[in-house]
Amino acid sequence: MVREFAPTLDQSAVGSFRQAFAGEIVLPDDPGYDAARVVWNGMIDRFPAIVARPTNAPDVISAIRFAREQQLIVAVRSGGHSIPGFSTCDGGIVIDLSAMRGVRIDPERRIAHANGGSLLAELDDGAQAHGLACPVGVVAHTGIAGLTLGGGMGRLQRKLGLTIDNLASVELVTADGRLVRASEDENADLFWGLRGAGANFGVVTAFEFRLHPIGPTITQGFVLHPIERARELLALFREFVASSPDEVMTTFAVGLALPESDFPAEIAGRPFALISTTHCGPAQAAERDLAAIRAFGPPAMDTIAPKSYLAVQHANDEGMRWGHRFYMKSGYMASLPDEVVDRCAEHVSNAPGDCSFSIWAWGRAIARVPDDGTAYTGRDARFWVAAEALWDDPNQDEAHIGWGRAAMASLMPFTVAGHYVNDVVESGDDVVRSIYGDAKYQRLVALKRAWDPDNVFRLNQNVRP
Ligand code: FAD
Repeated sequence: MVREFAPTLDQSAVGSFRQAFAGEIVLPDDPGYDAARVVWNGMIDRFPAIVARPTNAPDVISAIRFAREQQLIVAVRSGGHSIPGFSTCDGGIVIDLSAMRGVRIDPERRIAHANGGSLLAELDDGAQAHGLACPVGVVAHTGIAGLTLGGGMGRLQRKLGLTIDNLASVELVTADGRLVRASEDENADLFWGLRGAGANFGVVTAFEFRLHPIGPTITQGFVLHPIERARELLALFREFVASSPDEVMTTFAVGLALPESDFPAEIAGRPFALISTTHCGPAQAAERDLAAIRAFGPPAMDTIAPKSYLAVQHANDEGMRWGHRFYMKSGYMASLPDEVVDRCAEHVSNAPGDCSFSIWAWGRAIARVPDDGTAYTGRDARFWVAAEALWDDPNQDEAHIGWGRAAMASLMPFTVAGHYVNDVVESGDDVVRSIYGDAKYQRLVALKRAWDPDNVFRLNQNVRP
Protein backbone atom coordinates (compact mmCIF):
# COMPACT_ATOMS: atom_id res chain seq x y z
CA MET A 1 0.00 0.00 0.00
CA VAL A 2 1.45 3.37 -1.06
CA ARG A 3 0.95 5.94 1.70
CA GLU A 4 3.55 8.53 0.93
CA PHE A 5 0.86 11.18 0.43
CA ALA A 6 -0.40 10.78 3.99
CA PRO A 7 2.00 12.76 6.20
CA THR A 8 2.15 12.06 9.91
CA LEU A 9 0.37 14.75 11.86
CA ASP A 10 1.59 16.36 15.06
CA GLN A 11 0.41 13.74 17.57
CA SER A 12 -0.16 16.17 20.43
CA ALA A 13 -2.34 18.33 18.17
CA VAL A 14 -4.31 15.23 17.15
CA GLY A 15 -4.65 14.38 20.85
CA SER A 16 -6.12 17.82 21.66
CA PHE A 17 -8.41 17.56 18.64
CA ARG A 18 -9.69 14.20 19.89
CA GLN A 19 -10.68 15.82 23.17
CA ALA A 20 -12.75 18.48 21.45
CA PHE A 21 -14.34 16.08 18.95
CA ALA A 22 -17.10 13.56 19.75
CA GLY A 23 -16.96 11.74 16.41
CA GLU A 24 -14.62 9.14 14.95
CA ILE A 25 -11.13 10.00 13.75
CA VAL A 26 -9.37 7.73 11.26
CA LEU A 27 -5.61 7.99 10.68
CA PRO A 28 -3.49 6.28 7.99
CA ASP A 29 -2.38 3.46 10.30
CA ASP A 30 -5.89 2.67 11.49
CA PRO A 31 -7.55 -0.51 10.16
CA GLY A 32 -10.50 1.49 8.73
CA TYR A 33 -8.31 3.92 6.77
CA ASP A 34 -8.62 2.40 3.32
CA ALA A 35 -12.40 2.14 3.59
CA ALA A 36 -12.56 5.71 4.95
CA ARG A 37 -10.71 7.23 1.99
CA VAL A 38 -12.84 5.66 -0.78
CA VAL A 39 -15.19 7.88 -2.81
CA TRP A 40 -17.82 6.98 -5.41
CA ASN A 41 -15.77 7.42 -8.60
CA GLY A 42 -13.36 4.46 -8.84
CA MET A 43 -10.85 6.65 -10.72
CA ILE A 44 -10.15 8.73 -7.60
CA ASP A 45 -7.53 7.25 -5.24
CA ARG A 46 -6.26 9.73 -2.65
CA PHE A 47 -4.55 9.57 0.73
CA PRO A 48 -5.78 12.09 3.32
CA ALA A 49 -3.73 12.59 6.49
CA ILE A 50 -6.88 12.31 8.60
CA VAL A 51 -10.56 11.52 8.15
CA ALA A 52 -12.81 13.09 10.79
CA ARG A 53 -16.44 12.06 11.14
CA PRO A 54 -18.33 14.76 13.06
CA THR A 55 -21.55 13.90 14.86
CA ASN A 56 -22.92 17.46 15.11
CA ALA A 57 -22.20 21.11 14.28
CA PRO A 58 -19.80 21.67 17.25
CA ASP A 59 -17.72 18.74 15.94
CA VAL A 60 -17.60 20.37 12.50
CA ILE A 61 -16.39 23.60 14.16
CA SER A 62 -13.64 21.66 15.97
CA ALA A 63 -12.58 19.95 12.73
CA ILE A 64 -12.31 23.26 10.88
CA ARG A 65 -10.33 24.83 13.73
CA PHE A 66 -7.95 21.85 13.78
CA ALA A 67 -7.53 21.98 9.98
CA ARG A 68 -6.74 25.69 10.07
CA GLU A 69 -4.26 25.37 12.96
CA GLN A 70 -2.47 22.51 11.19
CA GLN A 71 -2.76 24.23 7.79
CA LEU A 72 -4.43 21.21 6.25
CA ILE A 73 -6.31 21.35 2.98
CA VAL A 74 -9.99 20.67 3.71
CA ALA A 75 -12.18 18.20 1.79
CA VAL A 76 -15.86 18.00 2.77
CA ARG A 77 -17.78 14.82 2.04
CA SER A 78 -21.46 13.97 2.28
CA GLY A 79 -22.47 11.38 -0.34
CA GLY A 80 -18.97 11.13 -1.87
CA HIS A 81 -20.38 11.36 -5.42
CA SER A 82 -18.26 14.27 -6.62
CA ILE A 83 -17.29 13.13 -10.11
CA PRO A 84 -13.86 14.90 -10.10
CA GLY A 85 -13.25 13.69 -6.51
CA PHE A 86 -13.52 17.03 -4.68
CA SER A 87 -14.57 15.29 -1.46
CA THR A 88 -11.17 13.74 -0.77
CA CYS A 89 -7.57 14.92 -0.88
CA ASP A 90 -3.94 13.96 -0.54
CA GLY A 91 -2.35 14.90 2.78
CA GLY A 92 -5.24 16.98 4.17
CA ILE A 93 -8.35 16.45 6.25
CA VAL A 94 -11.57 14.87 5.01
CA ILE A 95 -14.54 16.10 7.03
CA ASP A 96 -16.81 13.15 6.33
CA LEU A 97 -20.44 13.84 7.28
CA SER A 98 -21.59 10.22 7.01
CA ALA A 99 -22.27 10.17 10.76
CA MET A 100 -24.57 13.19 10.34
CA ARG A 101 -27.36 11.55 8.39
CA GLY A 102 -31.09 11.59 9.10
CA VAL A 103 -34.17 13.38 7.76
CA ARG A 104 -37.16 14.49 9.83
CA ILE A 105 -40.46 15.31 8.13
CA ASP A 106 -43.00 17.85 9.34
CA PRO A 107 -46.05 16.72 7.33
CA GLU A 108 -48.25 19.57 8.57
CA ARG A 109 -45.91 22.27 7.32
CA ARG A 110 -44.69 20.09 4.42
CA ILE A 111 -41.09 20.69 5.42
CA ALA A 112 -38.16 18.25 5.56
CA HIS A 113 -35.24 18.81 7.95
CA ALA A 114 -32.18 16.98 6.61
CA ASN A 115 -28.88 16.66 8.44
CA GLY A 116 -25.88 17.71 6.37
CA GLY A 117 -24.59 14.23 5.54
CA SER A 118 -27.92 12.70 4.46
CA LEU A 119 -28.47 10.85 1.21
CA LEU A 120 -31.31 11.41 -1.27
CA ALA A 121 -32.83 8.06 -0.25
CA GLU A 122 -33.49 9.37 3.26
CA LEU A 123 -35.34 12.41 1.96
CA ASP A 124 -37.30 10.37 -0.60
CA ASP A 125 -38.22 7.63 1.87
CA GLY A 126 -39.09 9.99 4.73
CA ALA A 127 -41.21 12.31 2.59
CA GLN A 128 -43.02 9.46 0.79
CA ALA A 129 -44.15 8.05 4.13
CA HIS A 130 -46.44 11.14 4.13
CA GLY A 131 -47.23 11.14 0.39
CA LEU A 132 -44.76 13.98 -0.17
CA ALA A 133 -41.56 14.55 -2.16
CA CYS A 134 -38.86 17.12 -2.81
CA PRO A 135 -37.40 17.19 -6.34
CA VAL A 136 -33.96 15.57 -6.11
CA GLY A 137 -31.66 13.52 -8.36
CA VAL A 138 -32.06 10.13 -9.97
CA VAL A 139 -29.61 7.97 -7.96
CA ALA A 140 -30.70 7.57 -4.35
CA HIS A 141 -27.22 7.12 -2.81
CA THR A 142 -26.16 10.62 -3.94
CA GLY A 143 -25.55 13.10 -1.11
CA ILE A 144 -28.20 15.76 -0.51
CA ALA A 145 -25.49 18.32 0.26
CA GLY A 146 -23.37 18.20 -2.90
CA LEU A 147 -26.41 17.84 -5.14
CA THR A 148 -28.34 20.70 -3.55
CA LEU A 149 -25.42 23.12 -3.29
CA GLY A 150 -24.90 22.80 -7.06
CA GLY A 151 -28.57 22.94 -8.10
CA GLY A 152 -30.21 19.51 -8.19
CA MET A 153 -31.74 18.23 -11.44
CA GLY A 154 -34.17 15.30 -11.49
CA ARG A 155 -37.43 13.70 -12.51
CA LEU A 156 -39.74 16.36 -10.99
CA GLN A 157 -37.89 19.40 -12.27
CA ARG A 158 -40.38 20.54 -14.91
CA LYS A 159 -43.16 20.68 -12.33
CA LEU A 160 -41.31 21.60 -9.14
CA GLY A 161 -37.98 23.07 -10.32
CA LEU A 162 -34.49 22.24 -9.15
CA THR A 163 -33.76 21.08 -5.62
CA ILE A 164 -32.53 24.59 -4.75
CA ASP A 165 -35.89 26.00 -5.81
CA ASN A 166 -37.37 24.05 -2.89
CA LEU A 167 -34.69 24.92 -0.35
CA ALA A 168 -36.05 26.97 2.54
CA SER A 169 -32.92 27.40 4.64
CA VAL A 170 -29.51 25.99 5.55
CA GLU A 171 -27.30 25.99 8.62
CA LEU A 172 -23.61 26.03 7.94
CA VAL A 173 -20.29 26.26 9.70
CA THR A 174 -18.22 29.03 8.17
CA ALA A 175 -14.47 29.19 7.57
CA ASP A 176 -14.03 31.15 10.82
CA GLY A 177 -15.88 28.48 12.79
CA ARG A 178 -19.30 30.12 13.27
CA LEU A 179 -22.62 28.34 12.88
CA VAL A 180 -24.89 30.59 10.78
CA ARG A 181 -28.28 30.28 9.15
CA ALA A 182 -29.08 31.39 5.62
CA SER A 183 -32.50 31.80 4.01
CA GLU A 184 -34.39 34.41 1.98
CA ASP A 185 -34.69 36.44 5.23
CA GLU A 186 -31.36 35.79 6.92
CA ASN A 187 -27.96 36.22 5.26
CA ALA A 188 -29.89 36.44 2.00
CA ASP A 189 -26.79 37.15 -0.09
CA LEU A 190 -25.09 34.04 1.22
CA PHE A 191 -28.29 32.06 0.54
CA TRP A 192 -28.15 33.29 -3.06
CA GLY A 193 -24.59 31.95 -3.46
CA LEU A 194 -25.30 28.69 -1.67
CA ARG A 195 -27.89 27.86 -4.33
CA GLY A 196 -25.51 26.97 -7.16
CA ALA A 197 -22.00 27.61 -5.80
CA GLY A 198 -22.61 26.33 -2.29
CA ALA A 199 -19.53 24.17 -1.76
CA ASN A 200 -17.48 27.39 -1.60
CA PHE A 201 -18.85 28.92 1.59
CA GLY A 202 -18.80 26.45 4.49
CA VAL A 203 -19.90 23.06 5.74
CA VAL A 204 -23.67 22.74 5.66
CA THR A 205 -24.86 20.88 8.73
CA ALA A 206 -28.64 21.08 8.08
CA PHE A 207 -31.07 21.80 5.24
CA GLU A 208 -34.79 22.62 5.26
CA PHE A 209 -36.76 21.72 2.13
CA ARG A 210 -40.32 22.42 1.00
CA LEU A 211 -42.26 19.26 0.10
CA HIS A 212 -45.10 18.58 -2.31
CA PRO A 213 -47.74 15.84 -2.69
CA ILE A 214 -46.36 13.20 -5.11
CA GLY A 215 -47.16 9.51 -5.63
CA PRO A 216 -47.10 6.98 -4.11
CA THR A 217 -47.63 5.77 -7.71
CA ILE A 218 -46.35 7.58 -10.77
CA THR A 219 -45.95 6.48 -14.39
CA GLN A 220 -42.43 5.96 -15.66
CA GLY A 221 -40.36 4.07 -18.21
CA PHE A 222 -38.84 4.26 -21.67
CA VAL A 223 -39.43 3.26 -25.27
CA LEU A 224 -36.29 2.03 -27.00
CA HIS A 225 -35.78 1.92 -30.76
CA PRO A 226 -32.92 0.95 -33.10
CA ILE A 227 -30.57 3.81 -33.96
CA GLU A 228 -31.92 3.93 -37.53
CA ARG A 229 -35.03 5.63 -36.12
CA ALA A 230 -33.08 8.17 -34.06
CA ARG A 231 -33.90 11.22 -36.19
CA GLU A 232 -37.64 10.50 -36.20
CA LEU A 233 -37.56 9.83 -32.47
CA LEU A 234 -35.71 13.10 -31.86
CA ALA A 235 -38.42 14.96 -33.82
CA LEU A 236 -41.04 13.35 -31.60
CA PHE A 237 -39.04 14.26 -28.48
CA ARG A 238 -38.78 17.93 -29.56
CA GLU A 239 -42.49 18.15 -30.22
CA PHE A 240 -43.41 16.20 -27.08
CA VAL A 241 -41.25 18.35 -24.79
CA ALA A 242 -42.88 21.49 -26.18
CA SER A 243 -46.47 20.23 -25.84
CA SER A 244 -46.60 17.96 -22.78
CA PRO A 245 -47.75 19.30 -19.38
CA ASP A 246 -45.38 20.13 -16.50
CA GLU A 247 -46.15 16.78 -14.84
CA VAL A 248 -44.18 15.08 -17.62
CA MET A 249 -40.38 15.00 -17.50
CA THR A 250 -38.80 13.54 -20.63
CA THR A 251 -35.28 12.66 -21.67
CA PHE A 252 -33.79 11.41 -24.92
CA ALA A 253 -30.77 9.13 -24.98
CA VAL A 254 -28.46 7.45 -27.46
CA GLY A 255 -26.43 4.51 -26.19
CA LEU A 256 -25.18 0.99 -26.74
CA ALA A 257 -27.38 -1.94 -25.72
CA LEU A 258 -24.95 -3.31 -23.11
CA PRO A 259 -24.77 -5.67 -21.31
CA GLU A 260 -26.31 -7.66 -24.15
CA SER A 261 -28.21 -9.92 -21.75
CA ASP A 262 -30.40 -6.95 -20.66
CA PHE A 263 -31.77 -6.36 -24.17
CA PRO A 264 -33.82 -8.29 -26.77
CA ALA A 265 -31.68 -10.15 -29.34
CA GLU A 266 -32.49 -7.78 -32.24
CA ILE A 267 -30.93 -4.80 -30.43
CA ALA A 268 -28.36 -6.40 -28.06
CA GLY A 269 -24.88 -4.92 -28.48
CA ARG A 270 -26.13 -2.34 -31.02
CA PRO A 271 -26.65 1.44 -30.76
CA PHE A 272 -30.15 2.55 -29.79
CA ALA A 273 -32.15 5.73 -29.27
CA LEU A 274 -34.74 6.02 -26.54
CA ILE A 275 -37.23 8.36 -24.95
CA SER A 276 -37.57 8.03 -21.19
CA THR A 277 -40.40 9.70 -19.35
CA THR A 278 -41.80 10.27 -15.88
CA HIS A 279 -45.38 11.43 -15.35
CA CYS A 280 -45.96 12.47 -11.75
CA GLY A 281 -49.74 12.93 -12.09
CA PRO A 282 -52.60 10.40 -11.88
CA ALA A 283 -52.38 7.20 -14.00
CA GLN A 284 -55.33 8.18 -16.20
CA ALA A 285 -53.76 11.52 -17.09
CA ALA A 286 -50.46 9.74 -17.73
CA GLU A 287 -52.09 7.34 -20.17
CA ARG A 288 -53.47 10.29 -22.11
CA ASP A 289 -50.36 12.50 -21.90
CA LEU A 290 -47.87 9.76 -22.85
CA ALA A 291 -49.91 8.29 -25.73
CA ALA A 292 -47.81 9.97 -28.44
CA ILE A 293 -44.63 8.29 -27.22
CA ARG A 294 -46.21 4.86 -27.19
CA ALA A 295 -47.85 5.35 -30.59
CA PHE A 296 -44.46 5.81 -32.27
CA GLY A 297 -44.19 2.44 -34.07
CA PRO A 298 -43.38 -0.83 -32.32
CA PRO A 299 -40.44 -0.30 -29.96
CA ALA A 300 -37.72 -2.87 -29.24
CA MET A 301 -38.58 -2.28 -25.57
CA ASP A 302 -41.38 -0.43 -23.77
CA THR A 303 -41.16 -0.25 -19.99
CA ILE A 304 -43.66 2.60 -19.40
CA ALA A 305 -46.03 1.59 -16.60
CA PRO A 306 -47.41 2.78 -13.27
CA LYS A 307 -44.68 2.27 -10.63
CA SER A 308 -44.04 3.31 -7.08
CA TYR A 309 -42.25 6.68 -6.89
CA LEU A 310 -39.74 5.19 -4.47
CA ALA A 311 -39.02 2.20 -6.73
CA VAL A 312 -38.32 4.62 -9.58
CA GLN A 313 -36.04 6.73 -7.38
CA HIS A 314 -34.03 3.60 -6.48
CA ALA A 315 -34.03 2.03 -9.97
CA ASN A 316 -30.55 3.32 -10.92
CA ASP A 317 -28.86 2.60 -7.59
CA GLU A 318 -27.31 -0.74 -8.53
CA GLY A 319 -26.22 0.25 -12.06
CA MET A 320 -24.51 3.36 -10.65
CA ARG A 321 -23.07 1.65 -7.57
CA TRP A 322 -19.82 2.77 -5.93
CA GLY A 323 -16.55 1.78 -7.57
CA HIS A 324 -17.18 2.19 -11.31
CA ARG A 325 -14.91 4.57 -13.15
CA PHE A 326 -16.84 7.52 -14.58
CA TYR A 327 -16.31 10.56 -16.78
CA MET A 328 -18.77 13.08 -18.13
CA LYS A 329 -19.09 16.44 -19.85
CA SER A 330 -22.27 18.42 -20.33
CA GLY A 331 -23.76 21.63 -21.68
CA TYR A 332 -27.02 23.48 -22.25
CA MET A 333 -28.83 23.90 -25.57
CA ALA A 334 -31.38 26.41 -26.82
CA SER A 335 -32.60 24.13 -29.63
CA LEU A 336 -32.13 20.58 -30.81
CA PRO A 337 -31.32 20.28 -34.52
CA ASP A 338 -31.13 16.89 -36.28
CA GLU A 339 -27.34 17.13 -36.57
CA VAL A 340 -27.14 16.63 -32.80
CA VAL A 341 -28.54 13.14 -33.00
CA ASP A 342 -26.39 12.33 -36.04
CA ARG A 343 -23.28 13.18 -34.03
CA CYS A 344 -24.51 11.24 -31.02
CA ALA A 345 -25.13 8.18 -33.19
CA GLU A 346 -21.70 8.45 -34.82
CA HIS A 347 -19.86 8.72 -31.48
CA VAL A 348 -21.81 5.94 -29.80
CA SER A 349 -21.11 3.64 -32.77
CA ASN A 350 -17.36 4.16 -32.18
CA ALA A 351 -17.47 4.03 -28.38
CA PRO A 352 -14.96 1.92 -26.43
CA GLY A 353 -17.69 0.55 -24.12
CA ASP A 354 -20.66 1.76 -22.08
CA CYS A 355 -20.79 5.33 -23.39
CA SER A 356 -23.96 7.32 -23.96
CA PHE A 357 -25.56 10.71 -24.53
CA SER A 358 -28.51 12.03 -22.51
CA ILE A 359 -30.60 15.03 -23.40
CA TRP A 360 -32.99 16.29 -20.71
CA ALA A 361 -35.94 18.63 -21.18
CA TRP A 362 -35.21 21.86 -19.29
CA GLY A 363 -37.39 24.92 -18.67
CA ARG A 364 -40.92 25.15 -17.20
CA ALA A 365 -40.60 25.37 -13.36
CA ILE A 366 -36.83 25.87 -13.68
CA ALA A 367 -37.35 28.86 -15.97
CA ARG A 368 -40.01 30.40 -13.70
CA VAL A 369 -37.34 31.38 -11.17
CA PRO A 370 -35.53 34.54 -12.33
CA ASP A 371 -32.02 33.80 -13.56
CA ASP A 372 -30.46 36.24 -11.11
CA GLY A 373 -32.47 34.78 -8.22
CA THR A 374 -29.78 32.17 -7.45
CA ALA A 375 -26.12 31.58 -8.33
CA TYR A 376 -27.17 28.57 -10.44
CA THR A 377 -26.90 29.43 -14.14
CA GLY A 378 -28.80 27.78 -17.00
CA ARG A 379 -32.47 28.53 -16.37
CA ASP A 380 -33.07 29.83 -19.88
CA ALA A 381 -31.85 26.65 -21.59
CA ARG A 382 -34.36 24.44 -23.39
CA PHE A 383 -32.26 21.27 -23.03
CA TRP A 384 -29.32 19.89 -21.03
CA VAL A 385 -27.03 17.44 -22.83
CA ALA A 386 -24.29 15.16 -21.48
CA ALA A 387 -21.83 12.59 -22.79
CA GLU A 388 -21.13 9.95 -20.14
CA ALA A 389 -18.71 7.01 -19.96
CA LEU A 390 -18.76 4.24 -17.33
CA TRP A 391 -16.13 1.48 -17.14
CA ASP A 392 -14.16 -0.67 -14.70
CA ASP A 393 -10.76 -1.44 -16.23
CA PRO A 394 -8.08 1.17 -15.32
CA ASN A 395 -6.33 0.39 -18.62
CA GLN A 396 -9.39 1.81 -20.38
CA ASP A 397 -9.21 5.23 -18.69
CA GLU A 398 -7.66 7.04 -21.62
CA ALA A 399 -10.05 5.53 -24.18
CA HIS A 400 -13.15 6.47 -22.18
CA ILE A 401 -12.02 9.94 -21.13
CA GLY A 402 -10.92 10.59 -24.71
CA TRP A 403 -14.33 9.44 -25.94
CA GLY A 404 -16.14 11.77 -23.51
CA ARG A 405 -14.07 14.77 -24.53
CA ALA A 406 -14.41 14.18 -28.28
CA ALA A 407 -18.09 13.34 -28.00
CA MET A 408 -18.97 16.54 -26.14
CA ALA A 409 -16.62 18.62 -28.32
CA SER A 410 -18.67 17.54 -31.34
CA LEU A 411 -21.80 19.00 -29.71
CA MET A 412 -20.23 22.27 -28.57
CA PRO A 413 -21.42 24.19 -31.67
CA PHE A 414 -24.99 23.52 -30.53
CA THR A 415 -24.56 24.56 -26.90
CA VAL A 416 -25.15 27.91 -25.21
CA ALA A 417 -23.41 29.66 -22.31
CA GLY A 418 -23.22 28.19 -18.80
CA HIS A 419 -22.65 24.75 -17.29
CA TYR A 420 -24.20 22.76 -14.47
CA VAL A 421 -21.47 22.95 -11.83
CA ASN A 422 -22.02 19.40 -10.54
CA ASP A 423 -21.11 17.93 -13.96
CA VAL A 424 -17.89 19.85 -14.51
CA VAL A 425 -14.73 17.79 -14.04
CA GLU A 426 -12.14 20.26 -15.32
CA SER A 427 -11.09 23.14 -13.04
CA GLY A 428 -9.53 26.61 -13.14
CA ASP A 429 -10.70 30.23 -13.03
CA ASP A 430 -11.81 30.18 -16.68
CA VAL A 431 -13.82 27.02 -16.12
CA VAL A 432 -15.56 28.51 -13.07
CA ARG A 433 -16.28 31.75 -14.96
CA SER A 434 -17.77 29.70 -17.81
CA ILE A 435 -20.10 27.96 -15.36
CA TYR A 436 -21.60 31.15 -13.90
CA GLY A 437 -20.98 33.87 -16.48
CA ASP A 438 -19.14 37.13 -15.70
CA ALA A 439 -21.79 38.96 -13.67
CA LYS A 440 -22.54 36.09 -11.29
CA TYR A 441 -18.88 35.21 -11.06
CA GLN A 442 -18.08 38.75 -9.81
CA ARG A 443 -20.89 38.55 -7.26
CA LEU A 444 -19.58 35.15 -6.09
CA VAL A 445 -16.04 36.51 -5.71
CA ALA A 446 -17.39 39.29 -3.47
CA LEU A 447 -19.32 36.72 -1.39
CA LYS A 448 -16.25 34.52 -1.13
CA ARG A 449 -14.20 37.48 0.13
CA ALA A 450 -16.83 38.11 2.77
CA TRP A 451 -17.33 34.51 3.93
CA ASP A 452 -14.12 32.61 3.15
CA PRO A 453 -11.33 35.14 2.46
CA ASP A 454 -8.59 32.52 3.06
CA ASN A 455 -10.21 30.04 0.67
CA VAL A 456 -10.43 27.28 3.27
CA PHE A 457 -13.14 25.65 1.12
CA ARG A 458 -11.32 25.26 -2.16
CA LEU A 459 -11.94 21.63 -3.12
CA ASN A 460 -14.88 22.46 -5.34
CA GLN A 461 -15.40 24.46 -8.55
CA ASN A 462 -13.50 27.12 -6.73
CA VAL A 463 -14.42 30.78 -6.70
CA ARG A 464 -11.13 32.31 -5.59
CA PRO A 465 -11.50 35.26 -3.16
P1 FAD B 1 -19.56 14.78 -2.25
O1 FAD B 1 -18.54 14.12 -3.10
O2 FAD B 1 -19.65 14.37 -0.84
O3 FAD B 1 -19.40 16.36 -2.32
C1 FAD B 1 -19.47 17.06 -3.53
C2 FAD B 1 -19.09 18.51 -3.34
O4 FAD B 1 -19.93 19.11 -2.39
C3 FAD B 1 -17.67 18.70 -2.83
O5 FAD B 1 -17.12 19.87 -3.41
C4 FAD B 1 -17.86 18.89 -1.34
O6 FAD B 1 -16.86 19.69 -0.78
C5 FAD B 1 -19.20 19.58 -1.27
N1 FAD B 1 -19.93 19.18 -0.07
C6 FAD B 1 -20.33 17.94 0.28
N2 FAD B 1 -21.00 17.99 1.43
C7 FAD B 1 -21.03 19.28 1.82
C8 FAD B 1 -21.59 19.95 2.93
N3 FAD B 1 -22.27 19.31 3.86
N4 FAD B 1 -21.42 21.29 3.02
C9 FAD B 1 -20.73 21.97 2.07
N5 FAD B 1 -20.19 21.38 0.99
C10 FAD B 1 -20.34 20.04 0.87
N6 FAD B 1 -26.79 15.63 -9.91
C11 FAD B 1 -28.05 16.05 -10.10
O7 FAD B 1 -28.33 17.24 -10.00
N7 FAD B 1 -29.04 15.17 -10.42
C12 FAD B 1 -28.81 13.84 -10.54
O8 FAD B 1 -29.73 13.09 -10.84
C13 FAD B 1 -27.50 13.37 -10.31
N8 FAD B 1 -27.21 12.06 -10.38
C14 FAD B 1 -25.95 11.62 -10.08
C15 FAD B 1 -25.69 10.26 -10.10
C16 FAD B 1 -24.42 9.80 -9.81
C17 FAD B 1 -24.16 8.33 -9.80
C18 FAD B 1 -23.38 10.72 -9.54
C19 FAD B 1 -22.00 10.23 -9.28
C20 FAD B 1 -23.63 12.07 -9.54
C21 FAD B 1 -24.92 12.54 -9.81
N9 FAD B 1 -25.21 13.89 -9.80
C22 FAD B 1 -26.49 14.32 -10.01
C23 FAD B 1 -24.16 14.87 -9.52
C24 FAD B 1 -24.15 15.15 -8.02
O9 FAD B 1 -25.17 16.08 -7.72
C25 FAD B 1 -22.80 15.73 -7.59
O10 FAD B 1 -21.80 14.80 -7.83
C26 FAD B 1 -22.85 16.14 -6.12
O11 FAD B 1 -21.76 16.99 -5.85
C27 FAD B 1 -22.81 14.93 -5.21
O12 FAD B 1 -23.02 15.29 -3.89
P2 FAD B 1 -22.42 14.39 -2.72
O13 FAD B 1 -22.78 15.01 -1.44
O14 FAD B 1 -22.77 12.96 -2.97
O15 FAD B 1 -20.90 14.53 -3.06
